[in-house]
Amino acid sequence: MSKVIVSALYKSDVFTMACRQFDQAADAINLPEDLRDRTKYPRRCLAVALPIKRDDGSITVFEGYRVQHNLSTGPSKGGIRFHEHVTIGEVAALAMWMSWKCSLVGLPYGGAKGGVICNPRQMSQGELERLSRRYMQEMINFVGPQIDVPAPDMGTNEQIMGWMMDTYSNHVGHVEPAVVTGKPISLGGSEGRREATGAGVAYLVKAYLEDMKIPVKNATVAIQGFGNVGSETAAALANYGAKIIAISDYTGAIYNERGIDIRKALEYVKYAKVLKDFDGGQAISNEQLLELKVTVLIPAALERVITNDNAPKLQCRLLAEAANGPTTNSADKILEQRGDIEIIPDVLCNSGGVIVSYFEWLQNLQHYYWTRDEVLQKLFTMLDRAKASVDAQKAKFGFSRRLAALTLGIARVADAKRIRGLFP
Ligand code: NAD
Repeated sequence: MSKVIVSALYKSDVFTMACRQFDQAADAINLPEDLRDRTKYPRRCLAVALPIKRDDGSITVFEGYRVQHNLSTGPSKGGIRFHEHVTIGEVAALAMWMSWKCSLVGLPYGGAKGGVICNPRQMSQGELERLSRRYMQEMINFVGPQIDVPAPDMGTNEQIMGWMMDTYSNHVGHVEPAVVTGKPISLGGSEGRREATGAGVAYLVKAYLEDMKIPVKNATVAIQGFGNVGSETAAALANYGAKIIAISDYTGAIYNERGIDIRKALEYVKYAKVLKDFDGGQAISNEQLLELKVTVLIPAALERVITNDNAPKLQCRLLAEAANGPTTNSADKILEQRGDIEIIPDVLCNSGGVIVSYFEWLQNLQHYYWTRDEVLQKLFTMLDRAKASVDAQKAKFGFSRRLAALTLGIARVADAKRIRGLFP
């Protein structure tokens, strides 16, 4: 009788995966039936056509989405992804994870996500600007500092956030930096935002290694993805003294058992845009990278890369999920049965990004700006608190760390919905 009528709108492997995680967590905390569907399914979404003039004079119509999963606990928050394989189901799953993440770390936000089906690597700056501005133009009545606050995700960056902020500001007639986060500093971006997600991942990796009695200086690390999150994680872990022995991007992976010079890799990528032909080690495949014998494995690119096939072959001691949804439900089961790999689940592991986005939004609303040290110190305090609450939940109920994190996040959202009533 209480069942929701589910359309096929979000149907996809990744949305099914997020729903399964929800069901498991809801069962674990005996979430009342009448709260389940309205906590689980996205609140609303918008799909838009984005006609863009190309540099050669032709017109291409791109498709874009924004899914707002939960608006019960504050404005919704979440990145915008530019990628050729974006689907509305993927965006919905990512929006759902944003809800649990914001709730877990105690931010006054619901979850959202956006996406545009495009390949930003094959577009000029001018084309990207027109696409970003058009996307924001179509979203003007759907987003806003008190409604939904976008940020960067895969394929988007500070410049794109700057164009979106400018488009929104021109529309409302005054500068409105709080409409997006992850902006350039000169437009009201926060000190420390660019490195926040990676700095948070590295901080948590170090903390969990300490719990495992492994000095970070003795740790070897493999990282899949060398974009914003992967490269900043690599730089921060190298600073802590860890040895980064493999890195990768969509062109392939580089392996060097003596350790990769991350500064050199960053310089190379700045110029070459990709890691391909970087001479800091030998070329291997992304699949090989995931199965290397390392202390820490960090997927920092796409979802669903740890699967049934490779989960039995992983040789790491700690799996730090910097990407969203990198481990499939069945791979998760295999890892749990193995019992020899500690996991920092995505909703905790990469939460540094949204935490500092929250700081940026606060600074924008108050027109009062903090130093980088203040930002990072506040970030680490919030991560310590989130880690402690997850580990306490894990110990109290005997849950896996993922289940502990998800149950905390989901319970708070469900409670807000219970108290507020049916409308939010
Ligand atoms: P990005 O676009 O800056 O970088 C993505 C990287 O992944 C690039 O190096 C790209 O080459 C690589 N990549 C793409 N396809 C790949 C493949 N098939 N194999 C190996 N590498 C591949 O994106 P990002 O912002 O670093 O985001 C990475 C992940 O982190 C995503 O899952 C994202 O949702 C998550 N995340 C990002 C943030 C943030 O603040 N940017 C915050 C939280 C979570």
